[in-house]
Amino acid sequence: MPEYLWLGLLADRLGERESAVAGSTLAHISRDHEPQSPKPAFALTSDYSCLTSGAHSQIMSDLEKRGLLRRVSEALCPLLALYTDCPLAFLLKHESAYARAVDLDTALATLKRVSLDMLDRRGRLAMIAQTTAVHIRLAAGELRIPKGTPFDNLDAIFDYPDTEDSTALASLVRATLTVPTQVLQGESPWCSYFWRHGYDVSVCEFHEEPDVGPPAEDDTLITDLLRVGSDFRLAVVKEVTADWTRARIDLSAPLKSEVLGALLARQVRFATAVAGSPDLWAVDVGRIVLRCMVDTHITLAWLIRQGTNESYNAFVEYGLGQEKLLLEHLRSRLDETDLFTAQLKERIHGMKQWIDAQLMTELLPVNVGAWSGKNTRDMAEEAGCKDIYDLSYSPHSAVLHGAWNAIARTNLRFCANPLHRLHRVPSFREPPLLLESMIQAVEVLRSTLTEWRAAFDVPLPDDPACGNFLKQALGRCSEGQG
Ligand SMILES: [Zn+2]
Repeated sequence: MPEYLWLGLLADRLGERESAVAGSTLAHISRDHEPQSPKPAFALTSDYSCLTSGAHSQIMSDLEKRGLLRRVSEALCPLLALYTDCPLAFLLKHESAYARAVDLDTALATLKRVSLDMLDRRGRLAMIAQTTAVHIRLAAGELRIPKGTPFDNLDAIFDYPDTEDSTALASLVRATLTVPTQVLQGESPWCSYFWRHGYDVSVCEFHEEPDVGPPAEDDTLITDLLRVGSDFRLAVVKEVTADWTRARIDLSAPLKSEVLGALLARQVRFATAVAGSPDLWAVDVGRIVLRCMVDTHITLAWLIRQGTNESYNAFVEYGLGQEKLLLEHLRSRLDETDLFTAQLKERIHGMKQWIDAQLMTELLPVNVGAWSGKNTRDMAEEAGCKDIYDLSYSPHSAVLHGAWNAIARTNLRFCANPLHRLHRVPSFREPPLLLESMIQAVEVLRSTLTEWRAAFDVPLPDDPACGNFLKQALGRCSEGQG
């Protein structure tokens, strides 16, 4: 875009047909005063960087004779006044009185408006500019096109996009200019300067965009779902409590039931939190919670299907070891002069007591690897839940860790300043809500409950809360869509 922007500015100010003549004339005169060979076509702004100051004077003199100097300078003024290192800036230096009178705010507004039009390569202004560039290159002999192509009638572009001839010509023009432009934009000092200086000329623009959450008419749906979610919380807590009383807990070795009970309660907590809070239906936060739930499910399923007594001990020791590690870090940071020393000491004491009540802290190993010695993928495979790993654990990990494929979609948006080459800036929009998050969270809880019930010989209740919730929530969603 920076290479052809000058032609867009000419078209904007002088009118389309006159700009084509003026642009071609400036290029033609410049070729006449460029002694080096091979000489550029002077279709690109960068082409003008090879001209000497002597050539500048001769070009301006020739333009003056043709009555074009003032008109071309005025048309290019928004660019040349703001980008003083532009290879075409010599045109404005000559018009020093005019240059001094330029209102930079107006120049910036014009430049932004024209740049925005030029960013759409298929737009009318951009097509007029690009066709003029092709005309210049044809006249310079830089392009050699056989007869019988749409290039035979470049004037057809003035009917763009209303006639077939004009659209055929436009697509040929774009195809012709695509390759050299891409190459040059990566290399030309003018393009680098244009984009870099664009940041100095004007700041990033964050266009007001509506949050992409559900539209207002979905409010009824959300209210309905929240009611279903609230009922679900009460029902599932009641149901799991009843299940627990039916389960055969071996109090001679209660650790297994404690570990599995804690994992189950964590799933209930997450699923009911998601079901009851639209904030957790957002595509990012929702998937982070789902990822935690899937992780918990794999641990529980693996312990139930593959775990030995040693596995349960290893799980507990690993957690206590992590707590011991934190305790040591806190202890090393104890600073007697700190205002909060007393509270910190109390916290450390409490942590040590909590660990000691389970295993003597001094005897506790600190393991920095995985507690089971296996990675989650292997555990999922061994626990028969590879599907849930592939579909939920792995993709949601990107959201959890803030990988590029997750954050580029949710946390960036395009800068609205056309002088900023469509770079991306932080986005603080609310991400879209995903009703699936709620459904999936309860699905995962249902799978976890199935595993847990099988392990403790607890029968499935007649009207299970998860199944009931899913039926109602899916019913509301399909009504909402219908
Ligand atoms: Zn920007």
